[in-house]
Amino acid sequence: MSATTRIWSPIDYNREGKQVDCLRLPISTDNSAYGWIPIPVVCIKNGEGPTAVLIGGTHGDEYEGQIAHMRLARKLSETDVTGRVIIMPSLNFPAVEAGRRVSPIDEGNLNRLYPGRAHGTATEMIAHYVTEVLLPMADLVIDLHSGGRSLDYMPCALIRPGKSPQQHEKLLELLRVFGAPIGFVTDGSGGGGSTTLPAAAERTGVPVVTAELGGGATLNRSGLDLAEQGVLRLLKHIGILRWNDVTEAVAVRLMDCSSTDLLVYAETDGMFEPFVELGDDVKEGQLAGLLHSIDRPFNQPQEVHFSCAGMVVCKRFPTLVKRGDCLVELLQDLAPSSMQGRAHAA
Ligand code: ZN
Repeated sequence: MSATTRIWSPIDYNREGKQVDCLRLPISTDNSAYGWIPIPVVCIKNGEGPTAVLIGGTHGDEYEGQIAHMRLARKLSETDVTGRVIIMPSLNFPAVEAGRRVSPIDEGNLNRLYPGRAHGTATEMIAHYVTEVLLPMADLVIDLHSGGRSLDYMPCALIRPGKSPQQHEKLLELLRVFGAPIGFVTDGSGGGGSTTLPAAAERTGVPVVTAELGGGATLNRSGLDLAEQGVLRLLKHIGILRWNDVTEAVAVRLMDCSSTDLLVYAETDGMFEPFVELGDDVKEGQLAGLLHSIDRPFNQPQEVHFSCAGMVVCKRFPTLVKRGDCLVELLQDLAPSSMQGRAHAA
């Protein structure tokens, strides 16, 4: 795992000032035997201080974070910061270029391949670079996502549970500073588990704030605004950003995903007719929607019920579903004593 990365770049992360270039991800194909794929990177450094790594485009069809990070990369100069900011708006560039969740080169889902491999597939090489080169430099990682083409999220932010009460409280504080209206705790066990960037960062001891900002492979305006303002607030909070005029965070409803019962799945193929909207509070047993069979249209549609109470944070975006697709994700309010969350991060 710790073999030397095959990715290279003219960027010198220890150089003072603003550098704009790209990583070179090696490829060897019929049309480009000794080629590389560019992965844009901006490094802004001004003296000693903390380092923030800002990531977007882990999944190519999630746009709010990519645009927020591009805008910040253009705006920030070295006089705006103390320490270092490394911005990668489109980390899995082949997926971004294709407008897809996974890379068209190797079908790799970057947030399911950590810690990556130095001599692995293209996507594994990117994960390895983050694990071995970026994480050891980082004091904070901000990883911006949304639901992609298959899911729609209400703008929210999430953390993994801390290893101690003190660390957990510090992570909750980062959620409050980011200022999404909903903040939740998860350890990824219903989804990416230990294969995600936050899991790799946890092993290195680096705090990560992840955000889910919209979905449907489109652009959510309030999610984009939250991304821009939340990142500035966090950069200010950890002592990097020198600006005084960052906006105040709204109060955050702290929640968690403490049971896989909170995820509602399709038990049959069909067309999903949802009966709930994002942000709805639902009761145990309530009807979540109907699944209409496409090959038995005269049969009664299958009813889909919630097996517990919660708030709808995420919904399936396309109407057509296969058995096993996630239809709705619920969150529950965080018990004051709760240290643990479970379930997944998109
Ligand atoms: Zn994502």
